[in-house]
Amino acid sequence: MSVGIVWFRQDLRLADNPALQTALKQCDEILALYIHDTRLGTLGQIGAASQVWLHHSLGLLDGSLQSLGSCLHRLVGDPVEVLPELAKVLDVTGVFWNRCYDPVTLERDKQIKQSLEGFEPTSHLANLLFEPVKTLKKDNTPYRVFTPYWKNLMGELPGGAPLAAPRKIPALTIETQKRLSNKKLKSVTLEELELLPERDWSEPMIKQWAVGEKAAKIRLKSFLTNDVKHYNNERDIPSSAGTSRLSPHLHFGEISPRQIVSEVMGKRRSVASLQIGEQTFVKEVVWREFAHNLIYQFPHTVDQPLDTRYKNFPWAKRYGKALRAWQQGQTGVPIIDAGMRELYATGWMHNRIRMVVASYLIKNLLIPWQEGERWFRDTLVDADVASNAMGWQWAAGSGADAAPFFRVFNPVLQGEKFDREGDYVRRWVPELYSVPNKFIHKPWELPPDERKSLDYPPPLVDLKVSRQAALEAFSTIKSASKYKN
Ligand SMILES: Cc1cc2nc3c(=O)[nH]c(=O)nc-3n(C[C@H](O)[C@H](O)[C@H](O)COP(=O)(O)OP(=O)(O)OC[C@H]3O[C@@H](n4cnc5c(N)ncnc54)[C@H](O)[C@@H]3O)c2cc1C
Repeated sequence: MSVGIVWFRQDLRLADNPALQTALKQCDEILALYIHDTRLGTLGQIGAASQVWLHHSLGLLDGSLQSLGSCLHRLVGDPVEVLPELAKVLDVTGVFWNRCYDPVTLERDKQIKQSLEGFEPTSHLANLLFEPVKTLKKDNTPYRVFTPYWKNLMGELPGGAPLAAPRKIPALTIETQKRLSNKKLKSVTLEELELLPERDWSEPMIKQWAVGEKAAKIRLKSFLTNDVKHYNNERDIPSSAGTSRLSPHLHFGEISPRQIVSEVMGKRRSVASLQIGEQTFVKEVVWREFAHNLIYQFPHTVDQPLDTRYKNFPWAKRYGKALRAWQQGQTGVPIIDAGMRELYATGWMHNRIRMVVASYLIKNLLIPWQEGERWFRDTLVDADVASNAMGWQWAAGSGADAAPFFRVFNPVLQGEKFDREGDYVRRWVPELYSVPNKFIHKPWELPPDERKSLDYPPPLVDLKVSRQAALEAFSTIKSASKYKN
C-alpha cells in the first residue's frame, strides 16, 4: 500500500487542487496535513485577523475531508523538520503541495525539497493562473507595467478547466495510523493551534463572513448573478456591496483564480467577448496575479521600495501619535476614519478607501508605507504579502506601475466623489450621523457652535499644508535615477 502526504497551505479547498488530485492518482492512502509554522520570520507570520479566518477555514476543511472518508492531520512545528520525519515514519511514496510565491515560503520550500530527497516531493501550480517564472516580456525580462502584462495574459485565459473535487479520499489504515502514535507526530486539536486571540474581539468580526470553500463558491455565484453587471459603475462606491469580497477566500485558497475566471467565462472562449463588468472583474483578478509576479521577480519589494530613490525619502521622524490616530480612525478626516474603523470591525476595507487611507498615511502624515503595510497585515482577513506590498508601493509611488508621488489624493474630494451622500461615513463614524451632506466630508467647516457640539476630533494635519510638505519631501529625491540596484 502506498502512502502520500498532501500538505495543505494556502489552498484550503478540495476542488481544483492539483496536489490532492496527483496524490490520489499515485497513492492508496492519503495523509491530509496542515502544519502551523510558528517559526516563520515576520514577513511570513500571519496577522491576528487572518489567524481567526484560518482557524475557521481549517475546521471547515477538516469537515469536508471527513465527509469524504479522511480528516485533517494538524501539527505545530517547523515543516523543514516535521515533513522528513513524517515521510520516514510513514515510508511515503510522495509528498504533494501547491506552490506559493512569496520569498519566505519559497526559501523554506527549497530547503524542504532538499530534505525530502528520496520521497518524491512534488509541487503544483494552483494558486495562480500562470507560473510567474514563465510570464516574462518578449526580451525575457519581468513586467513592471500592468497593461502589457494584461494584454499578454488575456489571450491565454481561462488557461485550462478547473479540476473537480474528489468523491472519496482514502484515509490512512489503522496500521499506518499506529506509526503516528509518536507524540510529536500525533495530530493536535484545532484549538491547540492557538489561532484565536485570548481576548475575543474576533467574534463580531468573523460573524460578518461565511468562511470556507462552499461559502466561496456561493459568494462567487451570487456576485456573478447579481452584481458583476454593475461592477464597472459600483466598484468604486464604498457604501455599495458592488465588489465580490472574494479576497480572503482567494488568499486562503478556498477558491482558485482558475475557478473564478472559468466561471465568469463559461462557454465564451475569449475575454474580449465578456460584458464590460465581467471583463473588469477578470482584470482585477489578474492584478492579483501581477502582484504575485512582482514579488516573485523582485522579492525584496515585500518590504523595500522597487524605486531605489525612496530609500532616501525624508520620512517624518517621530510619528507614533499620528500613526495611532490613523490606526484607530481618529484623524478627524471622516473618509479616513470610516475606512480605518471598517477595517478594524470587519477585517476588510473597500479598495478605493484602501488607496485613500494609504495616500493619507504616506503623503499627509509622511509615515513610511511599511508601517501601513504592517497594520494592514495584522488587521485584514485578506492580508496577502504580494497584494499588500503592491498596494502600498502603488500608493507610495515606489513600486511597479505606481501612482506618481506628486498625485496626492485629497480625502475630502475623494469622499465627495465616491461617498456623495455620506452613507459610508455615517455608517462607520456615527458621531457625524446628523452632519448635513455639505459638511459630512469636512466637518471642520461647520459653523463653530455646531462644530463644538460634535464628539469628533479636529483634523490631525492641515490637508493643504501637509500636501505641500509631501511635495517638498519628494523633490529631494526625484532627480536621482529610479532603479539603481
Ligand atoms: C494599500 C492597499 C493594500 C492592499 N492590500 C491587499 C491585501 O493585503 N490583500 C488583497 O487581497 N488585496 C489587497 N489590496 C487590493 C484590493 O484592495 C483588494 O484585493 C480588494 O479590495 C478586495 O476586495 P474584493 O474581493 O471585493 O475585490 P474585487 O473588486 O471583487 O476583485 C476581485 C479580486 O481581484 C483581486 N484584486 C482586486 N483588486 C486588486 C488589487 N488592486 N491588487 C491586487 N489584487 C486585486 C482580489 O483578489 C479580489 O478578491 C490592497 C490595495 C491597496 C490599495
